[in-house]
Amino acid sequence: MNNYKKILPIPQGESEFYWNKASEGELWIQKCNQCSESYFYPRDISPCCFSRDTEWVISSGRGVVYAFSIIHRSPNQGFQDEAPFIIAIVELHEGPRMATNIVGIEDPTPEKIRIGMEVVVTFDKITEELSLPKFKLVKN
Ligand SMILES: [Zn+2]
Repeated sequence: MNNYKKILPIPQGESEFYWNKASEGELWIQKCNQCSESYFYPRDISPCCFSRDTEWVISSGRGVVYAFSIIHRSPNQGFQDEAPFIIAIVELHEGPRMATNIVGIEDPTPEKIRIGMEVVVTFDKITEELSLPKFKLVKN
């Protein structure tokens, strides 16, 4: 942690449950009980129909690569130390899309990752209280 140079999220209000579960190695999303849509990021009001009748549900942690970019130069020194790395939008099997990193690909190139590839969540433990959900390719 002492050498960690990146900006970290600050769990609060609507996101505190999400970050607590992530620190336990579980990915949770929210579901609207009015229209049955699952959604991410955490918020108390459903983005689909504005209902407040929502609940937390555990995600399968499985999804596909919806979009990605391989970063070679970062404006932030903390990220630059890890370049090249992959930022991505992952579409969870439950529907929501989330911004994340694809990890576990040594020296990433466009030949090593494709849109639609199956991924599974993995947690990057930063502190006792904070783990960041990232994704790795599912090996077939
Ligand atoms: Zn809704």
